[in-house]
Amino acid sequence: MKIRDLLRAKGPHFSFEFFPPKTKEGEEALFRTMAELKAFRPAFVSITYGAMGSTRDRSVAWAARIKELGLTPLAHLTVAGQSREEVASVLERLWQVGVENILALRGDPPAGERVFRPHPEGFRYASELVAFIRERYGEALSVGGAAYPEGHPESVSLEADLRHFKTKVEAGLDFAITQLFFNNAHYFGFLERARRMGVEIPILPGIMPITNYQQLRRFTEVCGASIPGPLLSRLERHQDDPGAILEIGVEHATRQVAELLEAGVEGVHFYTLNKSPATRMVLERLGFRPEPLPPRSPGSPPAP
Ligand SMILES: Cc1cc2nc3c(=O)[nH]c(=O)nc-3n(C[C@H](O)[C@H](O)[C@H](O)COP(=O)(O)OP(=O)(O)OC[C@H]3O[C@@H](n4cnc5c(N)ncnc54)[C@H](O)[C@@H]3O)c2cc1C
Repeated sequence: MKIRDLLRAKGPHFSFEFFPPKTKEGEEALFRTMAELKAFRPAFVSITYGAMGSTRDRSVAWAARIKELGLTPLAHLTVAGQSREEVASVLERLWQVGVENILALRGDPPAGERVFRPHPEGFRYASELVAFIRERYGEALSVGGAAYPEGHPESVSLEADLRHFKTKVEAGLDFAITQLFFNNAHYFGFLERARRMGVEIPILPGIMPITNYQQLRRFTEVCGASIPGPLLSRLERHQDDPGAILEIGVEHATRQVAELLEAGVEGVHFYTLNKSPATRMVLERLGFRPEPLPPRSPGSPPAP
């Protein structure tokens, strides 16, 4: 199913993001997480693509697995550190396993480098990948891209970033997913500016329920998302108490999602970090109930 079509139906549409685990234990844990979150009937489930193509085999395999589990996969694909030919071959593999949705991304410079240098035979911007996908696959694939309510960290201004975003939309995006943010005002402001510029595609807000203080500081340093002062003070006070951090994170994300739904967003994309409890708690507090899992018969394979 193409996300372009899914998003036309009445929402709200929830989606969950996962990364391909490195170990057997990680894989088993992800299967369990997916089973738990599948019960919330996500519109789609996305699988990330490691920096510089480092997870390409695992990302393709997980995209195929998500499909086998009866869910709609969205495969992230980045161009950093890869030639056009290499990117084209991953795209073709995704197509061969029946993936119909691609999140077209540029990717970040390698760790320790601040400036992005395109591969000599590669793409420079995500918009070039979007155009390439459209040229090769036409409308057979649904294509999404990233949006930055607080501006991309490398951009010189919010205006310049928005102009570049518009170029990417015009290259053929069907939808966009935002970088995580903790203050809805950033999202509403971005949405308003984008609409004023004539961008009409759905822009799904990306929400990450906070579950770990140290990890939050690392993530926000890389992606540039700001943490509102009062929230940061509360988190700092309880940073060594995992239960309190989870409660603060879930409470904050629940408030964010409630306000976004109230404002009529098409859906919400959850950054799950391969764990289900926080996302599940947010959805349940908002009154969304999981479907009961079918009973397991003796000897049947593990759910889902
Ligand atoms: C929802 C989401 C999912 C993500 N998933 C992954 C993932 O799976 N793997 C991963 O490695 N990373 C992922 N990222 C991170 C992403 O790769 C980085 O944020 C990266 O730095 C930018 O990618 P982009 O696709 O937004 O790039 P682009 O859209 O190409 O933008 C990058 C920068 O270039 C500027 N720019 C764009 N076009 C032009 C132009 N024509 N002229 C001048 N400047 C221009 C933009 O303003 C921006 O500053 C994700 C990000 C988001 C929001």
